[in-house]
Amino acid sequence: MDKITVAKGNGIGPEIMDATLRVLDAAGASLQYDEIELGESVYLSGNTSGITDEAWDIIRKNKVLLKAPISTPQGKGYKSLNVTMRKSLGLFSNVRVCKSLAPFIATKHPDMDVVIIRENEEDLYAGIEHQQTPEVTQCLKLISRPGCEKIIRYAFEYAKQYNRKKVTCFVKDNIMKLTDGLFHQVFDEVKTEYPEIESDHYIVDIGAARIADTPEIFDVVVMPNLYGDIISDITAQISGSVGMVGSVNVGNSCTMFEAIHGSAPDIAGKGVANPSALLNSAVMMLNHLGQHDIAEKIANAWLKTMEDGVHTPDIFNDETSTKKASTTEFTDAIIANLGQVPSQLAKADFSKHRPIKLHQAKRAPRPEKTLVGVDLFADWPGTNPAEIADKLQKMCFDGIELKMITNRGVMVWPKGFDETFCTDHWRCRFQRNNNEPLSKKDVAILFANAIDQEVDVIKSENLYDFDGKPGYSLGQGQ
Ligand code: NAD
Repeated sequence: MDKITVAKGNGIGPEIMDATLRVLDAAGASLQYDEIELGESVYLSGNTSGITDEAWDIIRKNKVLLKAPISTPQGKGYKSLNVTMRKSLGLFSNVRVCKSLAPFIATKHPDMDVVIIRENEEDLYAGIEHQQTPEVTQCLKLISRPGCEKIIRYAFEYAKQYNRKKVTCFVKDNIMKLTDGLFHQVFDEVKTEYPEIESDHYIVDIGAARIADTPEIFDVVVMPNLYGDIISDITAQISGSVGMVGSVNVGNSCTMFEAIHGSAPDIAGKGVANPSALLNSAVMMLNHLGQHDIAEKIANAWLKTMEDGVHTPDIFNDETSTKKASTTEFTDAIIANLGQVPSQLAKADFSKHRPIKLHQAKRAPRPEKTLVGVDLFADWPGTNPAEIADKLQKMCFDGIELKMITNRGVMVWPKGFDETFCTDHWRCRFQRNNNEPLSKKDVAILFANAIDQEVDVIKSENLYDFDGKPGYSLGQGQ
């Protein structure tokens, strides 16, 4: 008997969780449940994290969580609990299988069968944001080598395990050369360990367009967090409905299974919610727990119900639906079909399913790191860059020079265009000639000189070379 944690969530959460648990019980799943409260009621009790310490303890003890969607109250002060849980529990990989069930579920893409593997812990979801000047806010995009290695290796291992032929990488490294560039570089390194699996790469914008237009050319697609968040919803929707796709958030210790959709407050309490996404997540969970026969029994009964045309309103269509079913009627139909298999759709077969085990990535030797400059960011309400350049040049000493000023990344000094719109946020780059190193003390003196010149420095970034290779971007136009 496996003990799991169950969170019924908010909105349609309790309706689809009850439906899912009814099917699990009827199929003979060997499970015991610990129920925890998450989300709305916890937020509204004054706990801005949406989760109590006791709930954390239960999740960490049982290690497997089946979670219905939760509502994040609008307004400041409430952190998204989903993001907190994924990051706090080290759930580095989010897997969503988006497969068409044509002709039974309407889709423009009858042949699609795409798995989106989304990095789950890094990128812009680090949640490190600051307002730096009255006009400018910033969100830090963090991409780490160990993070890339874990998710990309997971994608290839997934492809190997499930007999998938190709892994594709989506990034925007023509623009973000260091962050997305690292993701792409690690992809190119890891793919050499899997010569039997085809691999390719798209810039994310054209990749997203191709997924929306011809998803059947993709197989497994791996990408950083934000792109994965957006593209996995698109991929799920075009396969039939967001109400159908389950997901797993994989960690080294804990694993969380959840529907990809939200709490759907617009239909909550109406008895019409489609429980398929949560049920499919539960099927993934049974496979994770090694209860493959029960997982198969449920998946096949669900596929048969799709073929029978017993459909909730979100997937009801004139061609193949035979009954517009309530959540309860739909669930009853699945239970009645337990033990049966679909006649046209491919039968579920999980007999070869094994948990994906990643070997511990080796930490690369640390490169030689040399401080070769500093970017000081200043809040200045002026409009003529030459004026602030004058003050900044007065800060220079001992061969350190003001090399350039950019505004929102575009060079405005020593060269620039009158047409460039400038905000109150100026990046001022100081370096010695010939890339001679700086000391930390040089940086401190620059800060002190900025105070003397009444330059309002609001943050700084050290410029390092790593083994002689610049670890910073140039200004646009430089
Ligand atoms: P949503 O996914 O809840 O709803 C979008 C649309 O899809 C709605 O029209 C809804 O009725 C429909 N829909 C979603 N699931 C359905 C289902 N199972 N059956 C039938 N129709 C379904 O997205 P939203 O409206 O943007 O978000 C509502 C709330 O959910 C917000 O508070 C948001 O923060 C939260 N949310 C939670 C999660 C999660 O817990 N993992 C994910 C996304 C959004």
